[in-house]
Amino acid sequence: VSNPNVNDSTATVESLRQMMREFVAERQWQKFHTPRNLAASISIEAAELLEHYQWLTEPQAAEKSAQDPAFRHAVGEELADVLMYCMSLANALDVDVSQIVAAKMQRNRAKYPPEKFQGNYERPARG
Ligand SMILES: [Mg+2]
Repeated sequence: VSNPNVNDSTATVESLRQMMREFVAERQWQKFHTPRNLAASISIEAAELLEHYQWLTEPQAAEKSAQDPAFRHAVGEELADVLMYCMSLANALDVDVSQIVAAKMQRNRAKYPPEKFQGNYERPARG
């Protein structure tokens, strides 16, 4: 059973995936945790995350994000929901999260060389 005292310094991606795997298996929810349902759930939870920022100006959002404990807690809960569904999707797809993130970051580094994108952002040609 999962350790409630887990933190980012000691947890691994696999340990988070295992938490979700156990949670789903204990309830026999594998039939619901399909790639399509999980992709939808990630998007829904991302919208719930965004909802906390709806109508705030950038300075208001920055201040609440840095200083408002209740706001930070609520945003953290939605971030957790997104990440949990991401872990479950990785389980359902049987992909290695670390490998695909590292490969994508390698492509992003090539796409956005720091000497060209230092302090600015312009959308490069799609690819
Ligand atoms: Mg939620």
